[in-house]
Amino acid sequence: MVKYSGKGVYGAVAVGRISVFRRQDVQVKRVKIESAEKEISRLEAAKEKAISQLQEIYEKALKEVGETNAQIFEIHMMMVEDDDYNEAITEMINSQNVNAEYAVAVTADNFAEMFASMDDSYMQARAADVRDISNRIIACMSDCSSSAAVTDEKVIICADDLAPSETVSLDKEKVLAFVTAHGSSNSHTAILARNMNIPAIIGLGEEFLSQIKDGDTAVADGFTGELIINPDDATIAAYEKKLQEDAEKKAMLQNLKGKENITLDGTKINIYANIGSIDNIGAVLLNDAGGIGLFRSEFLYLENNDYPSEEEQLKVYKRVLESMAAKKVIIRTLDIGADKQADYFQLEKEENPALGLRAIRLCLTRPEIFKTQLRALYRASVYGRLGIMFPMITSVWELEETLALCEQVKRELDADNIEYSDNIEIGIMIETPAAAVLSDKFAPMVDFFSVGTNDLTQYTLACDRQNPHIERFCDTHHEAVLRLIEMSAENAHKHGAWIGICGELAADTSLTETFLRMGIDELSVSPSFVLKVRDTVRNINLSE
Ligand code: PEP
Ligand code: MG
Repeated sequence: MVKYSGKGVYGAVAVGRISVFRRQDVQVKRVKIESAEKEISRLEAAKEKAISQLQEIYEKALKEVGETNAQIFEIHMMMVEDDDYNEAITEMINSQNVNAEYAVAVTADNFAEMFASMDDSYMQARAADVRDISNRIIACMSDCSSSAAVTDEKVIICADDLAPSETVSLDKEKVLAFVTAHGSSNSHTAILARNMNIPAIIGLGEEFLSQIKDGDTAVADGFTGELIINPDDATIAAYEKKLQEDAEKKAMLQNLKGKENITLDGTKINIYANIGSIDNIGAVLLNDAGGIGLFRSEFLYLENNDYPSEEEQLKVYKRVLESMAAKKVIIRTLDIGADKQADYFQLEKEENPALGLRAIRLCLTRPEIFKTQLRALYRASVYGRLGIMFPMITSVWELEETLALCEQVKRELDADNIEYSDNIEIGIMIETPAAAVLSDKFAPMVDFFSVGTNDLTQYTLACDRQNPHIERFCDTHHEAVLRLIEMSAENAHKHGAWIGICGELAADTSLTETFLRMGIDELSVSPSFVLKVRDTVRNINLSE
């Protein structure tokens, strides 16, 4: 039995087998080979394996996300078989006597560069696809056994770190827990784990990965941040008891379903849920959230290999709005950039991506992408109670330009005789100190504010939310952060706007009373925290 300690980012326990997540873009070395023939038959075996994986993924995608989204995997299968691509690889193996992995990697680079330099945006996007299929073929050559993504059993995924796009592509039904060597508690992977109700531990350090292997039994304790490998019987029994207690606590909270979010002295508050995909709606309804306070729409872009079209987006937003019936749904416009990257955006590498071209900055720089999303949102608005909010606002001119684009979209829809609701609430996220300091100027321009405490903390305290080494300095309860929230609440109310909090801090029940005393109107949390926050609210007495 060996124990490793990290930081628990979602308090739950899992007992099960380990599956080591193998990133497919493994570093490839150039190796001189003896027999080109042998190398080509290795390549053929790997391609066969890649095709059968892609077929499986295609079938799964067909069931889960529909034909349009699944088509990309059909294209991937065709690309694996593409004559030009295969000729280039075999030619290199034959003429240079190099290993197949190296030939695939170099060919992938050449093809990707060729695609990226084309004028047509569809062809440019194929650059990411050719890299993707090549990585898959290389991964099949380096390890043709199981990978974390395709195992049949529910497993504890162990990785050095997981990018949000890697996390979303895992089969959630098969993940018992996430455990990573690196990462920080405010990273999007940690947030996804919370959204998915999956125990998660981060920051266990590099060493643990070299000490574990696929199939090891382990306990992942998301409360204490401990990972116990090959636990003895007594430890397993203790954890089974803990699992039982946890289930009982959850069952007790179930009694709060249908009850009001009201303090002992009669103050009411909205408790909404945060989601990243339509797959989370079941959890929202199950946990009795009053609405959706944050739909991180960028995950729609991260799950795709190309820009989602207006029709594809409309389908998703419509489904969310219809599933929530009369309940409010606040969709945040695209917040891509920083740690949330999709290859097809082809964003330039930045020195400081968190301070770079992300969120509204990207949308205002590439208005054609933004307008496609706005059109889909306005068109979807007739199917429910929609709120739209804009991320990373810092200056009044940004909001003015954004609102002007909304007006332009409305005019275009009018011209096409396309219906949209005239009752859409418009809001901004308060996630930069600038937005909080200027909240008196922003409040008259919008219906609501939603405080993104994850970024507000990052930018106020100058603490990179991705950096695990500065967690100690990244104090989410810092007085400066709390004062900015309070200032925003005062300014919102002065101008008739309402204010919510949708960052992770909204679920921190040690601050619920503080937020209520500031006059916060809505707390939006991961679905699994809704009832816990309700329980806390119902035990607060603001008249004391
Ligand atoms: C935040 O910054 O608090 C927030 C809710 O947005 P995200 O975590 O997606 O950046
Ligand atoms: Mg944010």
